[in-house]
This record gives sequence, C-alpha cells and structure tokens, in this order.
Amino acid sequence: MATIILMTCNTIAEAHLVKGMLENNGINCFLNNENFSNLMPQFNGMMGAGVQVVVDEADYERACELAGLKDVNSELTCPKCHSANIGFGLGTRKAGKIMTIFLSLLSGTPFGNIQNNYYCKDCGAEFKR
Ligand SMILES: [Zn+2]
Repeated sequence: MATIILMTCNTIAEAHLVKGMLENNGINCFLNNENFSNLMPQFNGMMGAGVQVVVDEADYERACELAGLKDVNSELTCPKCHSANIGFGLGTRKAGKIMTIFLSLLSGTPFGNIQNNYYCKDCGAEFKR
C-alpha cells in the first residue's frame, strides 16, 4: 500500500476536520507531522511544514474530490486581472520575506505570519484559494 500526501493544513483542528470527513466517506487516512506542528506552529507553511493528511494512493482521486481539491490549479485565476498564470510560494515580494526569515532565525523569534500563498505571475497580486 503506497501512501500519498493529500494536503497540508495550517492547524491541527483543520486537519482533524478533513480526516473526519474522509473517514465518514469510507477513506482511511492518517495525520503526519502533528506533534511538530503543535510544538512549533511558527514553522507551519514553511518548507512543507504543517499537518499533513495522508491517504492511500488508490483513494487519492476520490479524496481530492471530497476535499474540493480537484484540478485546483487549473481553476485558479487572479482575482485582480483574471490571468490563469498563477504560482504558489512566497510570492512576488520574496526578497523581503526571505530577509525577515533570516533575521527571525538569527534572533530566535517566530516568523509564523510568513506563509506560502498563491500569486499572479502577471500582475503580482497575492491571494488565498
Ligand atoms: Zn493578476
């Protein structure tokens, strides 16, 4: 049985809601990275950190449909200019964010407000799904 990461959630509560919904629909799943995300919430959303919902590869398509993740990237358009040229990451003001992360690591303070977002490669607008 091969497993695959269905989605990464920012909070444990969100991950448990998804897990409960999937199990109510007969899809077995488990949560990964739950303890680390609870202990170090400032790292959620950075470098793949966050609570991961993991499902069996055979259930992946159905789980995507149930979680509303089907073809999410192809349906996304920029809310400002309606372009379909969308990326996911630190966004267009990347240099400032990386500098903030660097300074946070040096000073030992959290940088939890910096998270990956969808951004428009044409006009630079950042938005959530
Ligand atoms: Zn745009």
